[in-house]
Amino acid sequence: MSFDTLGLAEPLVRALSVAGYTEPTSVQAEAVPAALQGADLMVSSRTGSGKTASFVLPALMRVLALRESEPRPAPMPRPDGGPRAPRGPRFVPQGPSVLVLAPTRELALQVAKAAGDYGRYVPGLRVATVVGGVPYGAQLRALSGPLDILIATPGRLLDHLGAGKLPLGRVGLLVLDEADRMLDMGFIEDIHAIAAALPQQRQTLMFSATFSGPAGRLAEELLREPRRIEVASHTETHADIEQRLHWADDLRHKNALLDHILTTREVDQALVFTSTQRDAEALALRLADMGHAVDALHGGMPQGRRNRVLDGLRSRRLRVLVATDVAARGIDVKTISHVINYGLPMKEEDYVHRIGRTGRAGRTGLAVTLAERRDFGMVQRIQRFTTQRIPAATISGLEPRTPEPAPRPKFGAKPGGFGGKPGPKRFGNGPKPGYGKPFARGGAAKPGR
Ligand code: ADP
Ligand code: MG
Repeated sequence: MSFDTLGLAEPLVRALSVAGYTEPTSVQAEAVPAALQGADLMVSSRTGSGKTASFVLPALMRVLALRESEPRPAPMPRPDGGPRAPRGPRFVPQGPSVLVLAPTRELALQVAKAAGDYGRYVPGLRVATVVGGVPYGAQLRALSGPLDILIATPGRLLDHLGAGKLPLGRVGLLVLDEADRMLDMGFIEDIHAIAAALPQQRQTLMFSATFSGPAGRLAEELLREPRRIEVASHTETHADIEQRLHWADDLRHKNALLDHILTTREVDQALVFTSTQRDAEALALRLADMGHAVDALHGGMPQGRRNRVLDGLRSRRLRVLVATDVAARGIDVKTISHVINYGLPMKEEDYVHRIGRTGRAGRTGLAVTLAERRDFGMVQRIQRFTTQRIPAATISGLEPRTPEPAPRPKFGAKPGGFGGKPGPKRFGNGPKPGYGKPFARGGAAKPGR
């Protein structure tokens, strides 16, 4: 993956290569294209993962686009002394088109430096900062000229706004960097006052370590149909989450394991993951038949219904939620004690997102993976990705009859050897040609009841 595949203009790609960046970080690869499409974003990823560029680059793209549409300044006198071209209408737009709010002066200055670095080939780029600890006079001078990107701490910005010195009517992009920290510092009212002074028609990007609590509420108030981008740090240890792996002989055995786990008393609330929307629906129905307070949550459901299901989880009307990966992003319910991987994820990083739904807010959680033999490759990929082994466990009376799979499973050699649903889609280093076709849609597994 390289920067020009993200949809960035040539001057930005060039500046990035001068900065020594060869490829985008994960958060940049996800956030930049989404931001360029105009979406509002809620982004969380660990410190040092390159979030600054993931909003500064879209901001610079906006500046470049405006350069195209803005009237040009009056032409310069011709160097040969010839007649000046007639002066065009000289309209220099006032106020920034991009506003970035950051919690501290240091952070604001860092962002300004990044804007200067990545924007070094943007013609006449104008970046200003408004932070505490700088005399008002100097700041006012910087603000009185034409401006593209303004980076500010909320308190000082509000001072200027109150003095009527700051036209914000041109802001088409608002960025909140480290929103959770700004809220911790008590900037909530300032942020609201600033947002109220901005055009309604705008894009908003919000970066925060967490979107639970006040940051989530702020996002609800300021963002429109935001896309959630969460980049897991894959080698994080998840000290509060105990991981277990149960090998299942077949679907019937897997269902028996699930049923056993769900009926134990330690389960406060459980989030059960399936690979597909259909599986989520079917499993929720089966569990409801057994008497569980359960519902399904997946991306095929209308937003209104999804919200009601989530409310049900928060209000504890539901004890079990059966969900797909996409729908479960951003679920933050502290009482989820168990995450159960009933269907394995399609991508190994989704495993990390999934288990991160438990063990929140200082509580401990249990993440149980129910794997059939055909899931072996994905289990290995997850372990490589997290650089951790998931300890295998058994439940007495429900031990697997077949031994734990070992690397280089022989069953892959026979086409159609294993029944049941096809396994998760394999990426990258799947079986090599000549191995035959593993996990073919052979005989359908019998329902496990
Ligand atoms: P965050 O805001 O997520 O904590 P920063 O945006 O401050 O992270 O970036 C952390 C460091 O990584 C900075 O020094 C930045 O220059 C560098 N960096 C950002 N993106 C890239 C990239 N694509 N390639 C190499 N270095 C990068
Ligand atoms: Mg940052």
